[in-house]
Amino acid sequence: MKKDDCIFCKIANGEIPSTTIYEDDDFRVFFDIAPASKGHCLIVPKEHFDNVFEMNEETAGKLFVLATKVARSLKKELNLEGLNIVQNNGTIAGQTVFHFHMHMIPRYTGDTVNVGWKPGEADMEELSKLAKKVGDNIL
Ligand code: AMP
Ligand code: ZN
Repeated sequence: MKKDDCIFCKIANGEIPSTTIYEDDDFRVFFDIAPASKGHCLIVPKEHFDNVFEMNEETAGKLFVLATKVARSLKKELNLEGLNIVQNNGTIAGQTVFHFHMHMIPRYTGDTVNVGWKPGEADMEELSKLAKKVGDNIL
């Protein structure tokens, strides 16, 4: 399903041009227009999902298989030293385009990429309780 007025629906389905690296029935992979580093690209499903919470299992499975292939191809072609896979969900998490996309961000010594957080402190008792609750939701 496509969503009206969604820029990534239009790009993924070829209605708006992009610097496409790869395309199949389910996904388009294209370079980010404002790259964090050389080779920064996006893996975008052709079907519209607002975010990870909405994505179906079949697409999710295919997505990460493709991500591994894109990662290896970027590694082969660019002189990258590492790679961040970033995927933002919700405004507070930094999402600005509300059609699911996965960032593939090659890393190089001296680059200006900033993906990080300040390590916190764990309360082991609280973690144990939470592990059970969240785990129960998954099963
Ligand atoms: P996010 O903040 O995770 O929602 O990321 C959205 C990303 O989409 C940003 O890195 C933008 O630079 C990128 N972007 C937005 N419009 C385009 C476009 N037309 N072509 C390629 N990348 C885009
Ligand atoms: Zn869309």
